[in-house]
Amino acid sequence: TTAIVWLRQDLRLADNPALYHACRTCDHIIPLFIDDPLPTSVSQLGAASRAWLHHSLQDLDTRLQAIGNRLTLQQGAALPILQKLIATTGATHVYWNRVYDPQSLARDKHLKEALKPSCAVHSFNASLLNEPWEVLKADSTPYKVFTPFWKAMLKHGIQHLPLPLPERIPALPLQPESLPLETLGLLPHIRWDTGMMAHWQVGEEAAMQKLHDFLPTHGGAYKEARNFPAQPGTARLSPHLHFGEISPRQAVYHTERHLAEQPGAENGLRHFMQEIGWREFAYYLLYHFPHTVERALDARFDHFPWADDYTDVLERWQRGQTGFPIIDAGMRELWQTGWMHNRVRMIVASLLTKNLLVPWQVGEQWFRDTLVDADLASNVLGWQWVAGCGADAAPYFRIFNPTLQGQTFDPDGEYIRRWIPELQTRDYPSPIMDLKASRERALAKFSQIKQ
Ligand code: FAD
Repeated sequence: TTAIVWLRQDLRLADNPALYHACRTCDHIIPLFIDDPLPTSVSQLGAASRAWLHHSLQDLDTRLQAIGNRLTLQQGAALPILQKLIATTGATHVYWNRVYDPQSLARDKHLKEALKPSCAVHSFNASLLNEPWEVLKADSTPYKVFTPFWKAMLKHGIQHLPLPLPERIPALPLQPESLPLETLGLLPHIRWDTGMMAHWQVGEEAAMQKLHDFLPTHGGAYKEARNFPAQPGTARLSPHLHFGEISPRQAVYHTERHLAEQPGAENGLRHFMQEIGWREFAYYLLYHFPHTVERALDARFDHFPWADDYTDVLERWQRGQTGFPIIDAGMRELWQTGWMHNRVRMIVASLLTKNLLVPWQVGEQWFRDTLVDADLASNVLGWQWVAGCGADAAPYFRIFNPTLQGQTFDPDGEYIRRWIPELQTRDYPSPIMDLKASRERALAKFSQIKQ
């Protein structure tokens, strides 16, 4: 028997349930990736993520070739591609791991029905600790507040240990046609991605290595150090987790193992696992409240009086030219590396949505295009949390003061100097708006809709 293993946000060989079970059951395996033009599917992310995806696919293909198989690459709508591949190879099984954004879920449901007459379809969970429907409140409704959600999740437990590498991934004697990776056009025409990607090592092995480097060096101090953007205090695993080069289950499993040997790191590492819990919560909310892709979970924000014309201020924010050093450092870190420290993400998002009254969706869109870890669930959650319109959100009256935040979390100015070389010169712009006046304006608008 021959199986197609359709890889999506699970670009790894270990702890990959679809691949593992296909290899145990079938004689020949066709690992497939489809660059599917669904607006929110993994491959339709922004430019930075597409560059990452290119390298991740390359890495996966190299690993498969080393064991005599390879990645089949296709581009276009998934159904006709799968149907054609089934017809030309005689495959009788299709395996995939679930993705949870609303459009992909709807597509997969449709695909399952459409493929059923000719093929057995098997789907698994590879990117979450538990399925979003497994942890509910006593009244069977979903949680909207993180702490009780996470408590219930810990009580429920993680049901499965990470799976090992399949013993073998046997190829078809005559392998199907594949597009060359370059023809997918994932890399930009003007190669601005080279500098950005120099900050990263992509792929399954690099992701696992990063986790193992992080645990003994920064794990114990994580709870405090995670707030200081100049320090390497966090794991920087987010793009690897997004593309599934490592699974959250693997991350938690190895963290627990490390803790068993180094109990002193308990405080830091429990907090680290809780942050992986926030990722889980983001997927959970997106699954139960799919409309939050576009609209705030808090319906009172549907008619919020955002600013009418924000083109100029938006551009200054995007370019890191607001005149607030911590904001500009963050926006430049984002532009140059495709990543921004979480503390700074909160500060820049607060300035945009509160002091400048730009709709959160506009900021979310910019992040989506520029982050290598751009993730529909976590990005929407992050933006709605900061704007005060999501689940368990920051209260609307909490408006970060970028000057105070900079003093507290970058006390020596190391982070801002790293990203803004012209800080000491006349070239550095003056502040884009008055902090006090913009704060009062925001509070007045927010209090209107709270009534
Ligand atoms: P660590 O601190 O080492 O945490 C480990 C892992 O836990 C992360 O890799 C990530 O998968 C998860 N995690 C940590 N914090 C959060 C959080 N607040 N929400 C959800 N998951 C979390 N994260 C993304 O992965 N993609 C996004 O598009 C994204 N957009 C964001 C937008 C805003 C406005 C904000 C405030 C946060 C956003 N985050 C997003 C969450 C967070 O900033 C990043 O996950 C984190 O900075 C990644 O760095 P790290 O891997 O070093 O994290």
